[in-house]
Amino acid sequence: MRVVLYRLATLVTAAALGSVGGGGSLGAQPAFRGRLPVTDAMRPFVAIDRALIALIDVTVIDGTGAPAAAHQTVIVRDGRIAAVGAVGAIAVPSGALRLERPGYTVIPGLVGLHEHSYFGGVKRVTQMSTSGPLLYLAHGVTTAMSAGSMLPYQERAMKQAIDAGRIPGPDFLITGPYLDGAATSSTNARPLSTPAEAQRIIAYWASEGATWVKVQGRISRAMLRVVIQSAHARGLKVTGHLCSITFAEAAAAGIDALQHGFITASDYVPGKQPDICPPENMRIQSTIDPGTSAVQASIRRLATSGVSVVSTLAVYESFSRDRFRLDTAAMAMLDPEVRREVEANHAALGAEGGLTVSPALLKNMMRWEYDFVQAGGLLGAGSDPWGTGFLPGFGNIRNFEMLREAGFTPEAAIRIMTLNGARILGREREIGAITVGRQADLVLVQGNPAVNPQDLYRIVTVFRAGVGFDAQALRKAARGLVGVR
Ligand SMILES: [Zn+2]
Repeated sequence: MRVVLYRLATLVTAAALGSVGGGGSLGAQPAFRGRLPVTDAMRPFVAIDRALIALIDVTVIDGTGAPAAAHQTVIVRDGRIAAVGAVGAIAVPSGALRLERPGYTVIPGLVGLHEHSYFGGVKRVTQMSTSGPLLYLAHGVTTAMSAGSMLPYQERAMKQAIDAGRIPGPDFLITGPYLDGAATSSTNARPLSTPAEAQRIIAYWASEGATWVKVQGRISRAMLRVVIQSAHARGLKVTGHLCSITFAEAAAAGIDALQHGFITASDYVPGKQPDICPPENMRIQSTIDPGTSAVQASIRRLATSGVSVVSTLAVYESFSRDRFRLDTAAMAMLDPEVRREVEANHAALGAEGGLTVSPALLKNMMRWEYDFVQAGGLLGAGSDPWGTGFLPGFGNIRNFEMLREAGFTPEAAIRIMTLNGARILGREREIGAITVGRQADLVLVQGNPAVNPQDLYRIVTVFRAGVGFDAQALRKAARGLVGVR
């Protein structure tokens, strides 16, 4: 939620909102590395560590958008999905661990595209190098792109810790520091003054393992083109939380993913000046009707341009006093002192001068995203954790409910959170759906979220590359740690 942070920093002066965007990723599909190796550090969290597993008589929502299918069997072998089909049509191999789970649902592991590793929006920004990986994984996120870092070396170290098995977590794609134009007012972004500077910094972060680059809302069109060229030349993708540049301009420049959707689209602001983030962008945005023919035409152009959009509805809801309620289970994850600060932030929602998102604006955001998808656009989702009480993992699940509210079917909402995300990352042949041959990133849920959206909070087991993690154990280990480590 770098965007929001930026807003909080500027709201007293009612300065223009900056934008904070997400990153891009490698175009090449990484090779399957086999079943996830279980280290001693991971073992306390591992519920299922078997090469051959049969999930029997479950409902499957496979991530492709196909209707939920009841009474299915899913066979996992050596970290991959070996078979999926109706009970009776799929033979359970001898030696398989038989998990008969009628009344449960299996969905693909979530692919999150705005999953910060730091906790901002509070006085002292801290890295969530322990709590973040645990909470994302506990809530079904098996692949996460960070979409901007305030503490990029800590984020890099966190990724290395996950990759080395020192802590359980999602496959993390890192972005390095936020990049912004020279006019940035943020001290958390790297301002870019010259093309050579942009090229040098992107080359450096590529060498440090970043696979996406995230730009912010004060960058110029010319500098964005340099960033995109430099990133693409190294196989990195680019995402942004825009403001100074319109969505149409960024799409024409070849940006890969636009974060946040309608609320950050400056395309519709009357009198928009090139390369300038319009002052009071959000206030203006709340008065724009996404149903007008001009906005609808822009949605259709964007949808066919090939650029993707990342939905972050739930974090904006956390800025709506009318809607957002602090979640007791989520609050238990916070350090007590940070929790008091978060509760104060929540109590201050709607205060004069503060950032608020009205229910009407949320409705407009939902409509814009729904229409974008109906027009053929590729929509993914991310959480964007923030000090309003919006935490890793919990936010990813809340997005499901909000996408449902936006009008998407349960299957379409799951697709946005899984296969679409994989496509945006360029990994759709490996992850994002429950089909034979894909990596066994799976979420076992008690109940059926296609019938009752809240059931998606009842995650029991999260499989990453065929290894099943105990969601409750992951959550328990994260208690009290958000805001500390
Ligand atoms: Zn963010």
